[in-house]
This record gives sequence, structure tokens and C-alpha cells, in this order.
Amino acid sequence: MKRLQSNSSSSSPSPLQKRPKRPPSPSSSNAASNFLHGRNIYILQAKLTPATIAELFALAEKGGATVVSNPEDAEVVVTAVGMRKRLERHLDWEVAKSKALVTPAWLRDSFAQGQALPCGSYAALSSLHDTTVANCPTDSDSEPEVAPAPSTAYSKSHTQKLDIENIPENLLPPRTFPKTDLAKLDHTARFSCARASPLTCLNQGLCNELDVMRRLRELEGEERSALSYRRAVASIKSYPRKLSLSDHAEIHRLPYIGAKIFKMVEEYLDTGKIGEVEAARKSERFTSLQLFASVYGIGPSTARDLYARGLRSVRDLEAFYEVEGPLEVGAVETDAGAQGVDMDIKIALGLRQELALPIPRVEVEMIHRVIMDELEVVQPGCVSTIVGGYRRGKTASNDVDIVFTHPDGTKTVGLCTKLVKRLHERGLVTHVMHLSSFHAHNALRTHHWDSLEKSLTVFRPPSPDATRRRVDLIFALPQTYWTAVVGWTGSTMFERDLRSAAKAQGMKFDSSGITRRHDSKVFYPRTEKEVFDIFGLPWIDPSLRNADA
Ligand code: ATP
Ligand code: MG
Ligand code: MN
Repeated sequence: MKRLQSNSSSSSPSPLQKRPKRPPSPSSSNAASNFLHGRNIYILQAKLTPATIAELFALAEKGGATVVSNPEDAEVVVTAVGMRKRLERHLDWEVAKSKALVTPAWLRDSFAQGQALPCGSYAALSSLHDTTVANCPTDSDSEPEVAPAPSTAYSKSHTQKLDIENIPENLLPPRTFPKTDLAKLDHTARFSCARASPLTCLNQGLCNELDVMRRLRELEGEERSALSYRRAVASIKSYPRKLSLSDHAEIHRLPYIGAKIFKMVEEYLDTGKIGEVEAARKSERFTSLQLFASVYGIGPSTARDLYARGLRSVRDLEAFYEVEGPLEVGAVETDAGAQGVDMDIKIALGLRQELALPIPRVEVEMIHRVIMDELEVVQPGCVSTIVGGYRRGKTASNDVDIVFTHPDGTKTVGLCTKLVKRLHERGLVTHVMHLSSFHAHNALRTHHWDSLEKSLTVFRPPSPDATRRRVDLIFALPQTYWTAVVGWTGSTMFERDLRSAAKAQGMKFDSSGITRRHDSKVFYPRTEKEVFDIFGLPWIDPSLRNADA
């Protein structure tokens, strides 16, 4: 397949000119120049390109900060390093713990919004999330988990070209993010979408253990049991204190902790382990099923089937699907399933190791920018939000999820196909796992697979030897943009409960729309918060929608 020599951004303006700009607003026009006034910022240069370093220096200085040369003098350390080991090569761990350690996106988004944003969703290392929140130079960070989602920022170069005056206000990211009122939330609420679920909770170890049970049950096809564990995990996720053995009454008050799971919780609090989980971890069957199901396109029932045929290892799988070495497939599949399921699995197997590598936030942002630049060529004036785990604050994601729209709804029809074709021609998309076009929103549909135009792709970033990444592109009409953003932000349990909460109100929710059941009236929320309002739910910040482990 033809490889591109230069990438799409080579002809774009320099990074310094590609800074995101908010639409000018009378009240905040001066804010951008002074939002970091008096702050000391250290820019850790490891893993940053010279252009990015220059960009970050410029942003910090334009924001009124002093860029210091000694990290100990700084309040904020901006870094693209996401691993403790690597960080410790440049920064003493004790020093790191006394700073707000944020990704470059914090600086970019703060600049774009003209205010120092809460650091929670921008923590460079998940293990330093709490100290980063505590040391963040904003008042609003005293409540750690209310950090606004960074993902509504526009692609930088894209914003430059965007005629922002022509974008209706309701498709722009909000000027001020609503604040989640933690005091008003009830951690025993029935639906997880009415509770605050941080990325990492105070009982995370317990959640991780119970999540192994959830996965085990799922792989065994025991859906009801899997859901019980998923609900229990979500319940513990929003419990705001560290649990201990003496908290009997408190644990009993938590929703979805039945007798069996209660015992497991006790066992964990007593011994730090759960016997059944330990046994699962040691079991060959669980290990193989997990391995098989980690291949894109292999679900639990196929995994069990493969196990029943005697397959155990990756090598067995490769032999079964006749994969020879790393597979290079030139053709893009534009018709889902046209070449059969096995073909998809063969491709996925060849890509398995690459696609298993987590994607750091900076790379998610880079991929978003590259795609927005290409989309600008195909259809100028689109807006987008990076959704999925990134938007919930994950420091590394398994894929990149982006929701797009255009203020002129007619321009969104067929756009997904056009964009994917363009990306493929540019060598940026190597495979398409799924491509679907618009269907009318159907209130009677029972399953929740939405009817938005979307493409699940394999993306190759435009640099030599770049790791290929899974990228999901979702196109919504402008009137369903916010339902799509909410529907694709996740997490899975949060979405599930959002549908249940909608149902309890006589409504139906999915990414492609909201319908009232009795008269089929369709609702078009004009903001993300309105989605919550329609269902009578409190506003939950994206960083608090981590209802899964
Ligand atoms: P990660 O990608 O890091 O594993 P994630 O939360 O982004 O975490 P995804 O599988 O990318 O996980 O899904 C993101 C969200 O998009 C999910 O929470 C789900 O609500 C939604 N989603 C995923 N696939 C579909 C689909 N086919 N139809 C509708 N919604 C979907
Ligand atoms: Mg994702
Ligand atoms: Mn995804």
C-alpha cells in the first residue's frame, strides 16, 4: 500500500500559530492574557518535540506565568511523561508529589478558556492524580472530581480556520462548565448516572478485584451475574470514604451489595484478597478466554468455542486463523462483514499487540488534530468532541472516540464515509472494522446500538514507525450532537443506568436521540446539561462518570 511521505500538517501554520482560540467574549477578552498571572510553571521537555516545547512556553508566558528552570520552584509541572519510572529520570518523586503534574492539554485548554482549569482530568500520572488535584492552582480544585472535561476543546489548527461566528452557540463547548454539586448527590442513589464516580476511587483495589469476577462471569456467558458484579463495582465506586471491616452498616446501605458480594467485600477488607478471584486468576480457562476475547471481534461465546476446540494460546489462535506473522493488509474494508467475520479476526489478530498498547492523552489529542485537519478539507466548519475514556480523564485509553457534527445538518449526511475515504487515501486509516450510515431514530428498537453514522477504524498516526491505534469516528446531526456526546462518553455502566433512568421517566435514551414513549415526541437537548435535565438527573461532570472499575 502506498505510504505517505509527508503528513497532513506539514503545510499547516507553525504550532505557535495553531493555538486554540475561544470566541471572543466581552467579559473574558482579557482573561486569556493573565489567567496564570503570578504562577510558576516548569515545562518538562522529555518526550516533547521542539515545536511543542516552544508552543507550551509561549502559552505559559502569554498566560502571565513565569516559566522556571528548576521544577522545585514551580507550582505546576507540565509533562508528556506518563510513567513513574520515566518521570523519575527527570524529577524527584517527592518533588513530583508536591506539584500539580499535568499534561500539555491543561495549558492548551486553560489558555483556550482563559482560566486555569482544575487539574483533575489532566493529571499526567494517574498515581499522582490526588496530589495533582491538591496542588492545582485553582480554587475550584478543592473538590477534586469536579474538573471540567478537557475534551470539548477544538482541534487547534482547525479552530484557526473555523469561522466561529457561524457556529451556533449551542454546538460550542460551554464557556463555563456546570459544576457538579457533590453535596447534593446521594451515593446510595439507585442509578449510577445520579452518583459521582471518580476515575480512581478510595476503594479502587476492591473494585478491581470485583471487576475480575465481572469479567469472568461475562466470559462464561453468565450475563446476569456479570451485571450484579458490575452494579456492585459501580456502587462502591461512588462511596466517598475508604471502607474498613468495621463499616458493616455502611456497606449494607450500599445499593447492589447482596449477601454473596457482601461476603467478598468483607473477605477483601479482612485479607486484602478474594479467594474466588485468586482462583480465577490462576485458572487456565479464564486466562485463555481473556486472551482470546482481547482480540477485536472475538466475543465471549467465540472465545469459549475456541477453548472448547482445544485452543489455549495466541499461537493456537494464529494457527487456527492461519495468520503468518504481523499481517499487512492493504485494502480497506468499507462494507462491514463483507469479507466475513474470520477475515476481520485475522486482521485483528495481526494487529493484536499494537492495538493492546494504551494511548497517552497527548497522543489522543494529536490524533484528534490530525483528523480535524483532514475533515476540514473534506467539509469545512465541523465541530467535534473527543469522548470515551479520554473525556472521563483516563491517563491512557484503549482507543480514541470522537463525535462530530456540522451546524448545517445536511452536510453531516455521508460525511463519515467521505472522511474515512480521505483518511485512507492519506494512509492514515489502514482498516475499517465497521462503517454504518444513518438510520432514522427508532423508538421501538430494543437494543442500544445507536443508529449514528460511525466508523470503527485502525488509524496510523502520520509519523514513521507510529503505533497503529483504534479510532472510533461518530457523526451526529447537530440536533443530536449532545446526546451523541453523552452517549459516547461512557462509562458503560453509567450509560446503562442513563437508559434505565430515562425509561423510569417514560423516555428512551440512546446516543442518537431522546424519545418520549407515550407520544414518540423527540427531544433535542441544546446543551449537554440539558440531557441530564430532561431525565431529572443531577449534572454529573464527565470526570465523575467512571461507574466501571
Ligand atoms: P477505553 O476506550 O479506554 O477502553 P472507553 O470508555 O472509551 O474506554 P469505549 O469502548 O471506547 O470505551 O466506549 C466509549 C463509550 O462509547 C462507551 O462507554 C459506550 O457508552 C459508547 N459506545 C461504544 N460502542 C458503542 C456503540 N457501538 N454504540 C453506542 N455506543 C457505544
Ligand atoms: Mg474509548
Ligand atoms: Mn471506542
